[in-house]
Amino acid sequence: MGVHAVTGSASGMGKAAADKLRSAGHTVIGVDIEEADVTADLATPEGRRAAANGVLQAAGGRLHGAVLAAGLAPAPGSGPRIAQVNYLGVVELLEAWRPALAAADKAKVVAFSSNATTTTPLVPRRTITAFLDGDPEKAMRSVKHFGRAAPLMIYAASKLAVSRWVRRHSVLPEWAGAGIRLNALAPGAIRTPMIERLLSSPAESKAVESFPVPIGGYGDTSQLGDWVVFMLSDAADFLVGSVVFVDGGSDAYFRPDSWPRPGRLRELAGYLRKLKPSDARKPRAAP
Ligand code: NAD
Repeated sequence: MGVHAVTGSASGMGKAAADKLRSAGHTVIGVDIEEADVTADLATPEGRRAAANGVLQAAGGRLHGAVLAAGLAPAPGSGPRIAQVNYLGVVELLEAWRPALAAADKAKVVAFSSNATTTTPLVPRRTITAFLDGDPEKAMRSVKHFGRAAPLMIYAASKLAVSRWVRRHSVLPEWAGAGIRLNALAPGAIRTPMIERLLSSPAESKAVESFPVPIGGYGDTSQLGDWVVFMLSDAADFLVGSVVFVDGGSDAYFRPDSWPRPGRLRELAGYLRKLKPSDARKPRAAP
């Protein structure tokens, strides 16, 4: 049985995952703004520090798993908090917890992304870059001209940046090389309190209800909790750097031919040139 940190443990998919892990006999250290083992506001640097340290203290220096589910949906006026919680609330905590994850055998991480990453048009590249450079204020400034759609853009960009951060870091010696399996889960519309809030607002509900879901309806919170538990289990020992979409087919509906796509010669050849044959199965060095 392991020790797992779960952010967003008070509601929705984070709560479902935490409940299932506890029922299976694991120790869970829940992090949330209220009703958690470690209460902290992940929208502030002090809150993120308190969350990171609170978990490390409770875990005694070794974490077998981490689930980063705390997040905010796009809503009027929520942009700055989305930028802080959805991106820095994931990567700052993971950076702080990395040594404790490396200290466990085959530790696993599930960071919450979203299918908003691939189904939201016009997300500016510079917004994603600003996040990856650790500058959420710059990310906010870069979407100002979208007006009422700015929270949607910052939401999609925050989740794109989380996915990209996961893929970039997952293969490095500090992560894969330390035995840590780092992956992301990208849900579609799942019937959690987050979606219920959007459905209860006339302006937001129209957009949610008209969004195409080929299988119909909404995803089930408990089933998404099962996906998290699966991605933390031994079955996921060979899963690294994946962004797992569980979205009723929306991503495939919009972009059937965009992924997988053949790797570009520049991507593959540039990398292979740097490798000696004996290095080919070692994790890539930090850029
Ligand atoms: P939820 O609203 O039910 O739960 C989110 C949790 O995050 C809450 O307990 C909330 O208190 C916590 N949280 C929010 N701001 C916080 C802060 N500043 N500090 C600490 N905790 C904070 O949402 P959910 O639907 O279960 O979403 C979980 C994750 O999945 C989120 O990252 C969300 O963006 C993502 N997601 C959700 C959907 C969906 O349809 N529900 C789809 C795609 C991705």
